[in-house]
Amino acid sequence: MAKSSTLSAVTSEKKRVISQMIAIYCHKHHGTAGRTLCPECADMLAYACSRLDKCPRTPATHSSCRRCTIHCYSPAYRDKIKKIMRYVGPRMLFIHPISAIRHFISETRGE
Ligand code: SF4
Ligand SMILES: [Zn+2]
Repeated sequence: MAKSSTLSAVTSEKKRVISQMIAIYCHKHHGTAGRTLCPECADMLAYACSRLDKCPRTPATHSSCRRCTIHCYSPAYRDKIKKIMRYVGPRMLFIHPISAIRHFISETRGE
């Protein structure tokens, strides 16, 4: 696979997982359902995706955002995503087991 398509696949997978996580949080805390997000969570997702699109990491060094030492998020968005991750992390295995396992493997490999 070409380098750019590898990067694009990594980015797409990360976007898919983050969108699942934000949806779980939004459904529980803001009363939404299905693919619908409240404006605040939709904004959080758009921001996270824009950060991933500009991520300076290559596939070889692409650690998860949680473990990243660059921390490209602004402080306000970093606080929001931390809150979401703290809530969703323990529940992810039960709601989206395949995504949770893939995410766990990616984190332990340092991808
Ligand atoms: S936090 Fe790190 S891994 Fe996540 S998008 Fe920003 S630079 Fe990339
Ligand atoms: Zn919401």
